[in-house]
Amino acid sequence: MVVGEMPEGVDLLVVGGGPGGYVAAIAAAQLGRKVMLVDADGEDGLGGVCVRVGCIPSKALIELASHVHARQAWHGRGAPAPSAGDVDLVAFQNWKRDVVGGLNNGVRGLLKRAGVDVRTGWFRFTRPDQGALVTDPDRPPTHLKFASCIIATGSRPVQLPRLPFDGARIVSSTEVLELTDVPKSVAVVGGGYIGLELGTALAKLGSAVTIVEAQDRLLPTMDPNIGALVAKHVKTFGIEVLTSSSVTGDTGHALQIDRADGAVELAVELVVVAVGRIPNIDDLGLEVLGAAPGPDGRLPVGTDLLLTPRIAAIGDVTPGPALAHKASAEAHVAAAVLSGRAEVFDPTTIAAVVFSDPEVAQAGLTSSEAAAAGYDAVTATFPIAASGRARTLGDSTGFVEYVHNRDTGIVVGATIVGPHASELIAEAALAIEMAAHLEDIAGTIHAHPTMAELHHEVAHVALGHPIHVPGPRRPSSGAGAA
Ligand code: NAD
Repeated sequence: MVVGEMPEGVDLLVVGGGPGGYVAAIAAAQLGRKVMLVDADGEDGLGGVCVRVGCIPSKALIELASHVHARQAWHGRGAPAPSAGDVDLVAFQNWKRDVVGGLNNGVRGLLKRAGVDVRTGWFRFTRPDQGALVTDPDRPPTHLKFASCIIATGSRPVQLPRLPFDGARIVSSTEVLELTDVPKSVAVVGGGYIGLELGTALAKLGSAVTIVEAQDRLLPTMDPNIGALVAKHVKTFGIEVLTSSSVTGDTGHALQIDRADGAVELAVELVVVAVGRIPNIDDLGLEVLGAAPGPDGRLPVGTDLLLTPRIAAIGDVTPGPALAHKASAEAHVAAAVLSGRAEVFDPTTIAAVVFSDPEVAQAGLTSSEAAAAGYDAVTATFPIAASGRARTLGDSTGFVEYVHNRDTGIVVGATIVGPHASELIAEAALAIEMAAHLEDIAGTIHAHPTMAELHHEVAHVALGHPIHVPGPRRPSSGAGAA
């Protein structure tokens, strides 16, 4: 350090204002720490990718698309004919801006009430363990000396070298959420979470959508039956799915694709690339800490989330699913561990949801994961079509699947595909976290007619005495028998 670089002392420093960072800042303040939060976008960055260009705006677009699509679906069921007219994405953007702005303001207010000092600038470590620099073009650099630090810098979309983003024709999810016109034709590269969610929304809004997926099915990280079911259903929205297809380039008006049966060109107005996300750790000065990413490109932390005795890392920069709720859950643990508490991040399950149509939700172990983990795993399924409530929603695609341990009857996993799966998975996640038995779920009287009844229906299937689907004949106890 040279003269004039007198560092400002910070008790607990949080880097990043997303669902990991802002939750960590509030949790640390509640533990009595004096907290500073640094985000490159300052107060505008609060809420992170999730609030500004991810979870929240994408769900708003999906909601609009579902309403537009429902106008046609409900016309044949008694609703008046959908009124003519195009989807007004300018009006949508105004509404979405209010939604996002409201949540951003909310986070701002929460941090203010918690006494968190929010700063704007780019953060880098400058010396092993305690020194850092925050730079911002509008201000002189600030040198910091922190007692504890939490890295919560999140992730950004992966760019394909053969398909660089140009912000106009070849874009990431961020730009799609800013559209003010519905494109006539769209190629979505990547049939994972983001590709499927955005591709389905655009198709429902009227675009001709083709999803190009390198693997042999949609949602390749999930069980094959899920990808197959979703692929079949999205065709009803006019989506074409090209699997086992790699993109080799773009001519400026057509996407070049290599398929098993030869090369093809796909003329489209817009190309959306959704092939994964990479952690934002490349320009943090981690080398001065002697820290380096693991083979998965993430910062290697254990259950205490510590990278060094004074520095924790949470969210998309650490191993595990890149999910907002995982980051927020880790935030509590990191704040506590750095404040001297013996806590660990070791959840039984982190529920995951794809807001496609049908929605897909998973918690705990799939049957193959349970078998690999050494369980004598048993799978029971119940079709959504057998639910009265689903029939009244006019949407009976999908199933509920529970995985339990044969020896104990304890539920260890659940997969739900169908309407409201995103909400329904919460009961299964709670059951798995609490090590509930099938009898606990079957014995809980669920209100009728609700989608939540699916939980006790599938538990009855698992126990061998289903009512609303055929089951095994049960032996007579003898009473009343001839
Ligand atoms: P993803 O990993 O879910 O899917 C990427 C897909 O792109 C994969 O199926 C992969 O096989 C395919 N792919 C990779 N390279 C390709 C290529 N060259 N050509 C064609 N296909 C290719 O990634 P994502 O959809 O970008 O999402 C990133 C992460 O963000 C997810 O893993 C998830 O954790 C998170 N996310 C969560 C939600 C949610 O919770 N609802 C929504 C969106 C994103």
